[in-house]
Amino acid sequence: MFTIILITILVVVIGFLWYDIGSDYVYMTERSHGMKLIKQRINDSWQALADEHNLIFLGGGFFKKVTLHGSYRQYYLNLELKKRTEHKQKLFSTYLTISSTQANSQKNTHQPSSQTKPVVIKDIVRFFNKPSLKFSLKAPLQIAENQQIITYNYNGVNSEKRYLQFLFDLMVDLLNLYPEIIEQEGDIVAGLLTMLNDDTHGLQLIAANLLENIANRTAPRLKDKTTPLICPMCLAHCIPHKIIKTVSKATVKVAIKDVSMLKVTHYGCRLCYQSKNFVEGQLVVVLDHTMQAERLEENNQLRINWFKHKNPFDFDVVEIKQASDEDVERFVVQIKNDTDPGRKEHYKTTTYIIALDCQLNHNTHRILERTFINN
Ligand SMILES: [Zn+2]
Repeated sequence: MFTIILITILVVVIGFLWYDIGSDYVYMTERSHGMKLIKQRINDSWQALADEHNLIFLGGGFFKKVTLHGSYRQYYLNLELKKRTEHKQKLFSTYLTISSTQANSQKNTHQPSSQTKPVVIKDIVRFFNKPSLKFSLKAPLQIAENQQIITYNYNGVNSEKRYLQFLFDLMVDLLNLYPEIIEQEGDIVAGLLTMLNDDTHGLQLIAANLLENIANRTAPRLKDKTTPLICPMCLAHCIPHKIIKTVSKATVKVAIKDVSMLKVTHYGCRLCYQSKNFVEGQLVVVLDHTMQAERLEENNQLRINWFKHKNPFDFDVVEIKQASDEDVERFVVQIKNDTDPGRKEHYKTTTYIIALDCQLNHNTHRILERTFINN
């Protein structure tokens, strides 16, 4: 009886194992032809890249590690084909890292590639503009280790030589330009915000990292300024811009709530985000027909001649010196029609001063009182 039970158990176990191995075998056989083709393509393109750039290619078939590594444009490049099994399926991912730290230790063993080219700041522009990239990125790029390593991890096989070449150069250019890009500070924030809010942009994580670095540079310098800062180009104040980007829990499957990608405060011009060029003091709009200049900087004030400038801006004080009732009325109508939401709020705390020798009628006084605060 015991023997019968034992034999039954053995038959069940062997049957189960046979089924398991068999299904895997069938799967592998079905795909073996396709795999051979992929393997051939990797061999051809990765080997060609190795030959072209003096890199080392190790192609050991699908059950051994497939790598391409070495010094590329004075950085250390490591491209790997990684294999994993999910639901009995063999899945592959292409993992590429380019780092400046390891390049130093490799310098003696690998010659720098002849592809080295000088990088200029205008190259930055092409990183912001997705259509100008030669290829669309199949996976996002990520930067780590104090901007020393840039990584790319694609769930699939990248065997196209031209695409890989483009990736290598894009990643090296980014590492090369990184300090210069951060140095641009507020000037590039608008472009980075566009990238950050585009969930299909392969450089979204790079944009998040750059914005964090830029914000961290502006905060210590501009956060605790006691006098107002004015952007002389936009005639707008320097304000804290809260930049928040979350990734929905639907995208990050393991998360139980939305995950924060970025939460920083950038200090810069309210309108153009620039963070380097400011005038300290009050911004005054002057209604004075005797004023010749369009703008004057004096006594911690940036004074703007309304009759020459003629457009609303973020003024803190209205100063009426030589102006008629009609001038003031036209000015107030233009201010009331201003659609900028930031300025609409700002006008509620704006004060006005009327020169003693400026004769305005009762109605004009009432219009001013209803619009600004009498100082
Ligand atoms: Zn500005």
